[in-house]
Amino acid sequence: MNPSDLAFDRQHIWHPYTSMTRPLPCYPVVAAHGVHLQLADGRQLVDGMSSWWAAIHGYNHPRLNQALQTQMSSMSHVMFGGITHPPAVALCRQLVAMTPQPLECVFLADSGSVAVEVAMKMALQYWQARGEKRQQFLTLRHGYHGDTFAAMSVCDPDNSMHSLYQGYLPTHHFAAAPQCRFDDEWRPDDADTLEQLISQHHDSLAAVILEPIVQGAGGMRFYHPRYLQRVRELCDRWQVLLIADEIATGFGRTGKLFACEHAGIAPDILCVGKALTGGMMTLSATLTTRDVANTISNGAAGCFMHGPTFMGNPLACAVASESLALLAENHWPAQVAQIEQQLRSALLPLREHPAVADARVLGAIGVVEVRQPVDMAAMQQFFVEQGVWIRPFGRLIYLMPPYVIAAAELQRLTDAISAALNQPALFQHQ
Ligand SMILES: *Cc1c(COP(=O)(O)O)cnc(C)c1O
Repeated sequence: MNPSDLAFDRQHIWHPYTSMTRPLPCYPVVAAHGVHLQLADGRQLVDGMSSWWAAIHGYNHPRLNQALQTQMSSMSHVMFGGITHPPAVALCRQLVAMTPQPLECVFLADSGSVAVEVAMKMALQYWQARGEKRQQFLTLRHGYHGDTFAAMSVCDPDNSMHSLYQGYLPTHHFAAAPQCRFDDEWRPDDADTLEQLISQHHDSLAAVILEPIVQGAGGMRFYHPRYLQRVRELCDRWQVLLIADEIATGFGRTGKLFACEHAGIAPDILCVGKALTGGMMTLSATLTTRDVANTISNGAAGCFMHGPTFMGNPLACAVASESLALLAENHWPAQVAQIEQQLRSALLPLREHPAVADARVLGAIGVVEVRQPVDMAAMQQFFVEQGVWIRPFGRLIYLMPPYVIAAAELQRLTDAISAALNQPALFQHQ
């Protein structure tokens, strides 16, 4: 890329959560292979982010590329209204087979946020079809469910966009975030505020929506499986639907194929996205039970009211189907376990470091929570100079590498984090 391209980018192109007047620097990437991103100047960076939880098999995977090429040579896209096609059927068969048993009806959507919109609309239409006015959701503080309006309305009310859109967003109920950590001893009172809210408001609640076990973008917190079991029990007792947003956690990231498996529970509605296509392109899915699907379909509307233009895009479905076939070969459990072990031995001792407030690891996710907010631009530059791609935010420096990462490459990532902690200039100071 030449300098004028970078200048055009700064002048005209929005990046995620950035300013048009004071954009943070962007690094030009021209190729990606395996676990490496190649910068325009030829430098290779070891990728610690899987492009936001997505590229689980690494980049430029020959089988995903082949699936895309094969599909492209017969049909890239065709509308899904009144038409079906083999890649969509193959993918939905795999999704139904691999997710918890009661989930058997699949809605294909374009992105994670849209899968969440679809899930919330399903819950609303379900109760409408049953003749009950239930239009509120109950969720957890520190949650993240996406950037569209309904999804935003159930994101953490303090560290998200609620104050910006106050008066425009519907208001829902927020239970305290779970305090009991994944491997702490379970304290039953952890779910007390959730229990109070559900018993108080069940008449008006359409669903509880949460991220199972791992609260991702809202704080990278890992909570106790018993909490999730308790939520399932309470939803059953008070007859409220449970929506599990597995967009970040799905497809092995936490050490189980789906994070709900840590608690042995099944939701009524499940959202998947991110790693669904192995990071090749955008696609998401919302799965639900026969009961929810039939109730919606027998309601006044007579159907579920959603249908994106690019629904069931054959290219995305073919790639996703091949990505799930790769997972089905079952190398991922050993890969994720190996990453987990290495992250534990490299990151957990950093708890003793004076700059560190906490370090935690679950599956192929490693988090170092620091005491001072990072200086994003400075720390990003430092990591690039160390030959790694790690993008911290706030007080969180975290890793979620592709499952295929080798031990030596993973060590480059953890060494870079250790080195960053000793550089006070990479942190903001009050
Ligand atoms: C990323 C994410 C979303 C939103 O997905 P997009 O594809 O970015 O719209 C929703 N929920 C969770 C848990 C996520 O991590």
